[in-house]
Amino acid sequence: MGGLDPAVLSPLVRVVGVDHVHTDPHAIASRLRDNSWLSPLLRAHLGQRRASEGATLGVAAVVEPATDDEVLEIVALAVESGLAITPRGAGTSNLGQATPSEGGIVLDVRRLHGVTSATAGRITARAGTRQGDVDAAARREGRELTLLTTTYATATIGGWVAGGHVGLGAPMYGTTWDGNVLGARVATAEPVPRILTLDEHDVTPLVHTFGTCGILLDVTVPHVPARPWADWVVTFAGFDDACRFTEDLAHSDVRHRVAAAQPSTVMPAFRALTAAGVPSDQPAVLVIADRDQHNDLHAVVKTHGGAALAWRHDGSERPPLASMVFGHRMLWVKRLLPNAAFLNVYFDPEHVHEQIRLLDARFGDRLVPELKFQRSSWLRRLRGLPPAGTLPAGLLALPDGTSRLLDDVIACCEEIGVSCQNPHTSVLEDTGLFPDISSIHAFKRLVDPTGVLNPGKTAVPA
Ligand SMILES: Cc1cc2nc3c(=O)[nH]c(=O)nc-3n(C[C@H](O)[C@H](O)[C@H](O)COP(=O)(O)OP(=O)(O)OC[C@H]3O[C@@H](n4cnc5c(N)ncnc54)[C@H](O)[C@@H]3O)c2cc1C
Repeated sequence: MGGLDPAVLSPLVRVVGVDHVHTDPHAIASRLRDNSWLSPLLRAHLGQRRASEGATLGVAAVVEPATDDEVLEIVALAVESGLAITPRGAGTSNLGQATPSEGGIVLDVRRLHGVTSATAGRITARAGTRQGDVDAAARREGRELTLLTTTYATATIGGWVAGGHVGLGAPMYGTTWDGNVLGARVATAEPVPRILTLDEHDVTPLVHTFGTCGILLDVTVPHVPARPWADWVVTFAGFDDACRFTEDLAHSDVRHRVAAAQPSTVMPAFRALTAAGVPSDQPAVLVIADRDQHNDLHAVVKTHGGAALAWRHDGSERPPLASMVFGHRMLWVKRLLPNAAFLNVYFDPEHVHEQIRLLDARFGDRLVPELKFQRSSWLRRLRGLPPAGTLPAGLLALPDGTSRLLDDVIACCEEIGVSCQNPHTSVLEDTGLFPDISSIHAFKRLVDPTGVLNPGKTAVPA
């Protein structure tokens, strides 16, 4: 069985059973897949690594524990042997954060599965449960999760907390840092591993830190009364009208899970829409809003001279707009612009329209903008804004995804007051998402004193 030291391999097999320790190179390589190919920079970097290290990237085994005790035993073995541990959910992430940097073992947590409790406003699931299954459990009680990654059908709830940060519902509820993770149980990577029970405040070092600060065993998230969501595509004469509609909607009482303004240049990418008659030469806003508030929605549409098409209501066979927004937008854009690179940006709420115009004037067709709003006190504080309110954001697409253009766009953003979140790195310090990385470092030193958890993703000072 592969190149793993028998002194480690035998106990691993004893802990989880031979069927749940994969050491065959093909089996390992197939379990390392992720979506970092969406970044031309990360794809090139990974290609170079595969060429020099082989398809397994030095990983000796993929191990699949089914219980907390199994996780603790595996971690103790890895710590004792100095083997890196990369936790892994469904591998849908796109920043390369699930890709091991220093070999060792991959801990596939998907056998930690199932909803364990649901009480008023809180639902707890094993970390390897698909987020969609957690949402489905809430829906059976007439409730729904506040935030839902668009990859909910495959992504695990633990992988989303550790690797994602946003999703459907962000205009109302913000990000994972905004009260959308209420607690967790976490295994440490100490020589004698412990299980910590963390509340909403203590859990922050685990949020979007790529499994470097502990292994999530259970995650608790909030749920709220379910709403009858419906999809609309609202077209406009100009992108400025689309953006102003999106802004007004964000500040209105219309409950919406997303409103994403798209310029006309990118509309041909959404073939599912254009094939069904949505104009391919007009800007549009993709809206998922409360069907019971359609009159209020239409009033905002009318103010901005838009035309609203009811895209998908109950019983419709059309593809949901949920599969075209947030991270999923990248998949559609890539079909039109295969070399595109992406850049998450946050605009200044007072100057958003001017900033979008400045980017257009500077880059023209070399940059495809987007505008959506997130009610995130975390992201607002990060930008020195008062916590209450929304923050205009967008996923810029750069058709010619070279690092030179990316650098130019980032420099221009800095110059005009737009902040960037780098989606071409799996190093925490480079993401631009942490106001105080020192508290994450301090937590990591406590729970992972020998640095075995997903090494290479953060540079903890000695
Ligand atoms: C098309 C597309 C759309 C997307 N849409 C969204 C979106 O709407 N919102 C959003 O936030 N993200 C989005 N993402 C990115 C997002 O990271 C993932 O989809 C998802 O949240 C990750 O879940 P996963 O189970 O696949 O985690 P993985 O990819 O397996 O892992 C992600 C990270 O979490 C760590 N990890 C996994 N499980 C654990 C655990 N139990 N304990 C500790 N660490 C762990 C891994 O080491 C890795 O660093 C999208 C990505 C793509 C490609």
